[in-house]
Formats: sequence, C-alpha cells, structure tokens
Amino acid sequence: MKSYSFIQKQDQDVANAISGEEKRQAEGLELIPSENYVSQAVLQALGSPMTNKYSEGYPGKRYYGGQMYTDAVETIAQSRAKELFNCDFANVQPLSGAPANVALYFALLNPGDTVLGMDLSHGGHLTHGHPVTAVTKVFNFVRYKMKDAETGEIDYDKMLAVAKQEKPKIILAGFSAYSRELDYKKFVDIAKEVGAITVADMAHIAGLIAGKALRNPFDDGFDVITTTTHKTLRGPRGGMILTRENEEIAQRVDKTIFPGMQGGPHMNVIAAKAVAFGEALHPNFAVYASQILKNAKAMEEVFRKNNIRMLGGGTSNHLILADVFGSLGVSGADAEKVLDEVGITLNKNAIADDVRKPMDPSGIRFGTPAITTRGFTEKESTIVAEKMIETLTHKDDASVKARIKTEIEDLASRFPIPESFV
Ligand SMILES: *Cc1c(COP(=O)(O)O)cnc(C)c1O
Repeated sequence: MKSYSFIQKQDQDVANAISGEEKRQAEGLELIPSENYVSQAVLQALGSPMTNKYSEGYPGKRYYGGQMYTDAVETIAQSRAKELFNCDFANVQPLSGAPANVALYFALLNPGDTVLGMDLSHGGHLTHGHPVTAVTKVFNFVRYKMKDAETGEIDYDKMLAVAKQEKPKIILAGFSAYSRELDYKKFVDIAKEVGAITVADMAHIAGLIAGKALRNPFDDGFDVITTTTHKTLRGPRGGMILTRENEEIAQRVDKTIFPGMQGGPHMNVIAAKAVAFGEALHPNFAVYASQILKNAKAMEEVFRKNNIRMLGGGTSNHLILADVFGSLGVSGADAEKVLDEVGITLNKNAIADDVRKPMDPSGIRFGTPAITTRGFTEKESTIVAEKMIETLTHKDDASVKARIKTEIEDLASRFPIPESFV
C-alpha cells in the first residue's frame, strides 16, 4: 500500500476513504471497460506542484508569467499525442471527454446545426446528443443505427439517406457500448457527399489505436478525433482533441477550449498526460493493446459456448455487451449486483432497442483493459468468464457465491496492480 502520511496525519476521514478505495481496487476484478490502472509515475505527476500554477493560454502565449516548466510539459504532451495518433495538432487541455465533445460542437457548429451520431441504445455515448444533455438545447442530433444487432454492422445505406435529408455539419463515429470496428472509409465517403466534417470520438479505444491493435480513423481520412485519456490509453482522467492537416479546425478548437469554455488548464493533469503518452509510445504498449483484444476474444469464446447472446455477435475490440436477460433470465441490474457480490465489477447496460428500462436493462457490458493491465492472459480471462456465468446461473446460491468470491480474491492477489509499465 502507498503511504498517505500527510493525509493520515491531518484528515483521517479522507485518508480512510482513499485507503479503502485502494484496497477495493486491489482485491476485486475490474471489468468496467472504461476503467484502468495508471502507473505510479502518472500518480506522481497528478500529485505534483504543477497543480498550483495558473497557465491560461497555450505554450508561448500565456496570460501569466512563470511558465517555463508548464510550457515545457504541455509541449511534451502535445508532441507525444501527435506522434501516438499520427496527426499534426493536439489540444491536451480538455478537462475530460464530455467537455472535449461539447467544445468541439461549439468550435464547429452554429446554433441549430445538425450532428449525425450513433443511436445511444446501439452503443453511442450520452455526449452524442442524449436528450438529457445541455448541448441538445443548442444543436440538433439525428441518428444512425446498426443494420443488424447480431452482426453489429452499421446501416450505412440508412446513414447516407439520413445524411442527405438532414444535411449534418458533423458525422460522428464512436461509441461506449459497441464491440465491433467501424468502416471509417464509409463514414468519410458519406460525409464527402453531404459536405460534413468527420469526427471520431475514440474515448474507449484510444489506447487500442495508439497500440495499433485497431485502425486509426485519421488513416481513413477522418478530420477530427476527440478522446478521453483515462480509458484504454491508461492515463489520468482527462480529454483531448486532435486534427490532421486542418489549420482552420485547429485554431477554432484552441479558441473554443480557451477562452471559449475553460479557464486555467490543469497542469498537473497535463503533466500526467505527458507521462502516460510516454508510456504509450513504449514498444510494450502495443503488446498490451493486442493482449486486451486477445483476452476479450477468450471471454467471448466462453460466452458463445454457453449460448449467451452477445450484441454484434461477439467482439473485435476490448468489450462485450451480453444480453443476460434474454439468455439467462437475469436482468442487467441483478447481474451487476450479484457479480459485485463475488468481487467482479462491471455495469448493466441497455442493449439495442432494449424493451427494459434504462435503470434495469437487459444487458451487461464488460471488458478487458484493466485485467490486462494486471497481467491477465487468455487463460485467466477464460476463468473469469466462466466464473461470471457460474455466478449468474447460481445467483441465489450463497455457498456457490462464497466459493467464487474466494476464488476471485485469490486470482486478483496473484496479479497485483503493477507500479510501472516501462
Ligand atoms: C467516456 C466517454 C466520453 C466521456 O468522457 P468523460 O471523461 O467521462 O467525460 C465521451 N465519449 C465516449 C464515446 C466515451 O466513451
């Protein structure tokens, strides 16, 4: 365990909460596909005095003095981001994924303009225009869907038809609950036909793209990428906006982030982003990225053998969306709860055109980025999937659950969270 000696001395209550969370992370198995464990180097950067500095503006163009080291660290973060994603512009200041998307809408759109994005029940994200979000008061969001939930194929014909009718300014690719690769070239072709800008929100898969396990949308002609830095990319919580060969979009993005929407950048987080990007540039990050996919395939295999329906028919990335209500008669909320009891953390999730309510949907979503960071291979991933199914099929059997809980704890203890990846 890490030492929190200063917090412990002055604030026992907060110290207890932090230690409790650290212990929870060490003992349980994290299958939430958007979560991961950062290195001690990233944690040190987050806890550094960089947090004390006001740095409104960008390197070389700040509103306050004393920017020697903040300029240095932000420039390092930018240049590593550009190298990782093979592009020529990076704004590393967005505070998280959602603010990055909001900023991008304001950078590229006028009020009333239209965005064509993936239907939320088919895998899209809240920030792609869910009615509860603030951006829907300003912009108009229209949808495309999967053609077939059993294969996961996007309905590109329908996308073209909607695009021709609605004339979107942005066509958005990206998801948080979709398990297949997208055909980015088709997006680009459709966008060209209607004069739209292509934006990939790769929040979930940034690490898989950086590690070259999945395609880079820029290589297929996408204009903009938005992302988080804390999911598969394994950095601090934060966001980022990237473009390639488009000076006009780059300038608009910079202006919209600051002064348009944010104040002082969080320089401790930017330092931590720089450290994490350095880790992602290390050759062993590509090994990590490809192991994430192998581990997800191993889990898919177990679910298939047990005849559990998976949306998209399986996975080509780091996550699986399983219809546990349809296949086992266990609702998503019940599955989440009973798996929590044995030390496996994941989340309930709506499936395509779910007939059940959002707070208790038909599916669960789980993925392999965090367990792969712990060093799990196909062998351990297979065991975890088998234990999940055993738990779900014995959800009211206390003795089975007690045994599985011990087995999960043993497995987790054999794979401590690493301190360093390079
Ligand atoms: C996670 C996610 C976001 C939001 O990121 P936050 O850091 O939680 O604000 C945006 N888009 C997609 C596709 C995501 O998966």
